[in-house]
Amino acid sequence: MAIFDELKSVAGVLQEAGKIPQYQQILEVQEKLLEMMNHIFALENENRELKQQIKTKEALVFEGNVYWMNDGDKKNGPFCKVCHEKENKMITLDIGSFGLGTSRNQTYYRYHCLVCKNYFK
Ligand SMILES: [Zn+2]
Repeated sequence: MAIFDELKSVAGVLQEAGKIPQYQQILEVQEKLLEMMNHIFALENENRELKQQIKTKEALVFEGNVYWMNDGDKKNGPFCKVCHEKENKMITLDIGSFGLGTSRNQTYYRYHCLVCKNYFK
């Protein structure tokens, strides 16, 4: 990174000139700069994750005891409500081993979460 190269160059000149306290100051500045860059990097990652969480939350619809994700005209999913509410994870549900079922003349799907092992209908 250019700024580190410049600091290294200045540090080299100060060291050669025997300006040891100033040379050490430059080394400290380099160290602080590195710490700050790591901090910015961590904040950028956190910011990216939070933006993604907001986007997910805005697109999320709870319908038929499971979550669906609005994606323009279509709906993705279903996703497990337990995994989402407990761990904030979006786990796609499988149609369970019972598949379609009927109850009081209504047809319903049974979904199975392979992570938390819950069934939803
Ligand atoms: Zn689950």
